Amino acid sequence: MMGRGDGSTLFIGGRWDKADEGRSFPVTDPSSGAEIGHAADGGASDAQRAVEAAEAAFPEWSGQTAYRRAEVLQAAHALMLERQEELAALMTLEQGKPLKAARTEVRYAADFLLWFAEEAKRVYGSTVPSARADQRFLVMRQPVGVVAAITPWNYPISMLTRKLAPAIAAGCTTVLKPAEQTPLCAAAVFEIFEEAGLPAGVANLVTTSRPEETGQVFLGSPVVRKLTFTGSTEVGTLLAGQAAATMKRLSMELGGHAPFLVFEDADPVHAAKGATLVKLLNAGQACISPNRIYVHRSIMEPFAAAMTDRCERLRVGPGSSGADVGPLVDTAALEKVRRQVDDAVSKGARLLTGGERLVEDGLGDGSFFAPTVLADVDASMQIYREETFGPVAALIPFDDEDEVLRMANDTEYGLASYLYTRDLGRAVRVAEALRFGIVGINDINPTSAAAPFGGVGLSGLGREGGAQGIDEYLDVKLVGLALR
Ligand code: NAP
Repeated sequence: MMGRGDGSTLFIGGRWDKADEGRSFPVTDPSSGAEIGHAADGGASDAQRAVEAAEAAFPEWSGQTAYRRAEVLQAAHALMLERQEELAALMTLEQGKPLKAARTEVRYAADFLLWFAEEAKRVYGSTVPSARADQRFLVMRQPVGVVAAITPWNYPISMLTRKLAPAIAAGCTTVLKPAEQTPLCAAAVFEIFEEAGLPAGVANLVTTSRPEETGQVFLGSPVVRKLTFTGSTEVGTLLAGQAAATMKRLSMELGGHAPFLVFEDADPVHAAKGATLVKLLNAGQACISPNRIYVHRSIMEPFAAAMTDRCERLRVGPGSSGADVGPLVDTAALEKVRRQVDDAVSKGARLLTGGERLVEDGLGDGSFFAPTVLADVDASMQIYREETFGPVAALIPFDDEDEVLRMANDTEYGLASYLYTRDLGRAVRVAEALRFGIVGINDINPTSAAAPFGGVGLSGLGREGGAQGIDEYLDVKLVGLALR
């Protein structure tokens, strides 16, 4: 195994280290529950050291040319691709997703390094005409300063580069607290930064099992000028509230409850294929996972049959075994999924397949749940409102466009949404009316390093990726110049 499973996963001021108090915590494989290593259990003093290292590195890094910053990111991009296999194997071991999906994630993560290496050179300013003949206005864009990043376990490498690459490209310095379940993937990314020649203190890593303690230091520090967070809406709103006291800039990539609309003119078998693929992405543990699948009543039967058939043909098992669907992150995730399924069935949903934890064939030590299809789901059920984060497809029939738009928009979340239709007018009309940050039209993968990703409502603030992704790490400065 690559990475630093010996508990020396703090990277502060360019040095690998154990935690100040010498504490560490075990890291486990969700496929088997087996211990695969230890990570440093950083506390408040470690977080403080990391913030100070980032503060000390800021003047020099922000003073480098964009070309120099781009070189380092390009080198990191090359190293990440070179290590694709090792990183994917580590991700599968630590997070559980199938090896093929882990490889795809590593390439996606590397894309952000290259994309923002290029964007670094395009941080343009502007001039603005003045009403006075003897005055000129210059508008500059400058790095915000020290950035704190907090990331989740479900995409343990790409969520890091999606934040750190634009911050580093903009000239910011950073402190990262990765998820407790995936500290080794984070350490492997930092090894790449180190080898790519990123100067000491530009990116600092604090792994911990005590997120509140580290979070308090980041949030309480007046030095930290920006918080970028990906995780649950519950934690995101808490952190955003705390960030208000020091008026930090915020990027919040939070939960979702994506609607997936299949109109009567769509091919139900093709749409079911798309819905199954995106539903079971990362065993359903994705923020863009469809949580409500609305299918026109006239094609519900073939759609449900095709989806059920596909789900039943998928192999569930450890990500390293060639399985199509891996484990859930832990037993709490299993419990949540089971609760939602039981609740739906008790209120009248029909279980077409799945619906249970898998324990046969050596799966009993891991957190495996069978791909599940529920028909006749309605708004009275928990799954209709609560993010599932598991392999359960909830099918809901509808009769017309206005009705399904009302239902699709009836959520506090607003991240991803999908629609299947062959009618161009309807495609544009519905895409415009969906109150979500992302719409896939006959498309289950509307994401790319080159495109802005993010949500509205309780799904968050700001955008990651695209030309917009670097704006999040830049302040606008106005310079007025009197000519006399
Ligand atoms: P989470 O429980 O909110 O945790 C996210 C991160 O926040 C972890 O690093 C966690 O640390 C940390 N954290 C928790 N409480 C904290 C506190 N009081 N102070 C500071 N940090 C704290 O979310 P998760 O379960 O890891 O991730 C799943 C969620 O992320 C889902 O809701 C999903 O939709 C969302 N997500 C959104 C996007 C997007 O782009 N919109 C992408 C991926 C995932 P610990 O690990 O130590 O608890």
